[in-house]
Amino acid sequence: MNRLRAVPRAHLAAGLCLVALLLYPVVNPWQPYPQAVMLLGFLLAIQASSWNIIAGYAGYISLGHSMFLGLGSYTAGILALRWGVNPLWVAPIGGVTAVVAAVLIGSVVLRTRGHAFVIITIAMLLAAQILAINSKSLTQGSDGITLDLPFWDRDFQNIPFYYLFLVLLVLTVLFSAWLRSTKFGTGLVAIREDEGKAASIGVNTTRFKIVAYGASAFFIGTAGGVYAYYLTFINPVGSFAILGSVTIVLAALAGGRGTLYGPVLGAFIVNLVSEAATVYGGGSQSRVLLFGFALVLVVLFLPRGILPTVEAWWRRRHPVDVEYTDQAGALARAPVTTRERAPAPAATGPEGAAEGEILLDVRGVSKRFGGLTAVDDARLTVRRGTITALIGPNGSGKTTLFNLISGGMAADSGEIWFGGRRIDAMRPWERAHLGLGRTYQVTRLFKEMTVQENVVAPLPDSRPRTMFAGGVHGHEAARARELLDIVGLGRLAGERAGALSYGQQKLVELAQVLMLEPKLILLDEPAGGVNPSLLGRLTEVIRELNDDGVTFLIVEHNIPLVLDLCDPVVVFSHGTPIAEGPPGRIREDPLVLDAYLGDDWRPAAGDGGPRTQGAATREAVQ
Ligand code: ADP
Ligand code: MG
Repeated sequence: MNRLRAVPRAHLAAGLCLVALLLYPVVNPWQPYPQAVMLLGFLLAIQASSWNIIAGYAGYISLGHSMFLGLGSYTAGILALRWGVNPLWVAPIGGVTAVVAAVLIGSVVLRTRGHAFVIITIAMLLAAQILAINSKSLTQGSDGITLDLPFWDRDFQNIPFYYLFLVLLVLTVLFSAWLRSTKFGTGLVAIREDEGKAASIGVNTTRFKIVAYGASAFFIGTAGGVYAYYLTFINPVGSFAILGSVTIVLAALAGGRGTLYGPVLGAFIVNLVSEAATVYGGGSQSRVLLFGFALVLVVLFLPRGILPTVEAWWRRRHPVDVEYTDQAGALARAPVTTRERAPAPAATGPEGAAEGEILLDVRGVSKRFGGLTAVDDARLTVRRGTITALIGPNGSGKTTLFNLISGGMAADSGEIWFGGRRIDAMRPWERAHLGLGRTYQVTRLFKEMTVQENVVAPLPDSRPRTMFAGGVHGHEAARARELLDIVGLGRLAGERAGALSYGQQKLVELAQVLMLEPKLILLDEPAGGVNPSLLGRLTEVIRELNDDGVTFLIVEHNIPLVLDLCDPVVVFSHGTPIAEGPPGRIREDPLVLDAYLGDDWRPAAGDGGPRTQGAATREAVQ
């Protein structure tokens, strides 16, 4: 709630700054020097704000982002010379060139996770420089390209550039704000926080990262075209300088990576410091030193950046009470409803499968970790419409089997079929799009996101319409609120997910997976660590969803709960099922009693039931 209230305040401050910046040259038209300092600040802010899309939102640090400025400059410069037009007209083509380059590079590099990307971005920047030096016929090599001077009066030379860069900056910030407000933006943050989990909720991580990288290049490339005209000279060393990239990173980190205005604020500050260093400190050598030093200081003392630090300080000073309660019934509980736009997961699916048909078929799947066989030639079927339990001792391979089914891990051998299709070679998000959802034994919510954003994040399909649907307002957000109401946590929608209790997090993760409209939900120890009052709600929700046509496969150690809720029950031991049947039969099966349930569940003489139910409730140990 605090966040929601803080947002308009930030927009208001930004609007006031914008008005002041718009008026500045009007009030003070005869001073080209401060105008030049400020327009360079806008240019840096355009770059930092764009960089923020891939590095701040998605968490993929690019150390070669000034390459796109150089590409834009060269594209506009070369086209202006060849076509005899003003570079400003072709500046947007510079933006397009930058996007094409980003998508091509990204398509190769962003298929992997992690650090390879950082290294490649530096390599690409240097490669671009070498290319510019050696493609003499195109770029005139080291001599560089000289452009005509601006056609307007020299007395006002900087003013048109001032406004051009300011307009580009406003467009960049608006674009960035819009991206962040869509499901695409939520998906990017999901990738930053937990890429594996993002994939399991239907985020096509590869595509998201490539699109984000492309999107982060456009305004820099366009600004590059304008910058070429401002300088009237471009050369390889100046256009593809590593210092330019470092400045972008420094600006965004100082202001607040991942926030909307942080990179802009950081850019203004870094630009002023840089200017001061050049004027008073004696040129670019001292600037390199200064930037290095500043970067160390920022990382050490302001790891989250100025804006988030100030925001956190403000929030501590002005706390907002949120009604936390774990009491069942104290929070509003909405009845389970299925979404209108997607076909309800009814008893008869699109494949014509009726209730009772096999929905999930695990055929002889194995997974080894070194010498340990965690899943050993496992065969398991889950029928449509059932709540199937998977029980067994800790370490028997239940979670590993879930990972193989959801695609978090690849099986060594065997086949997995879901809804009549073989899925074991599919990417996790493809499986999610087919209607396969899962929760985790240790919840994997995106802790820095709000509860509502967590629930908005999943993507039930890969259509661009779904990808760019609004995530903050509109039907997706409304649906998320609805799902939170279903699990009884609607009031916590605006809270940071990491601030919730363990049991609440489990319920939010359930609401999150429901956003996929799944046909089958794999629940990994949903009751583990959940307080008893929330437990009642959990079983209620599972029952209602099941009545609505959702199939469940549940790993759980709470045996009374399993026997009450599930049918059939599959018992796992040493990576393979050893028994399967209705709960009544399973709890008397001598094999199961020996392998898992133990003596507490052995029927006493003359008594059909277990001696003590409570004692048999096993603690979930990871
Ligand atoms: P369960 O969920 O039934 O308690 P798990 O599937 O978590 O069991 O684990 C089965 C076995 O596989 C355990 O011995 C565990 O230590 C091992 N294991 C699970 N995941 C990994 C992994 N990523 N790397 C190595 N060993 C693992
Ligand atoms: Mg487990």
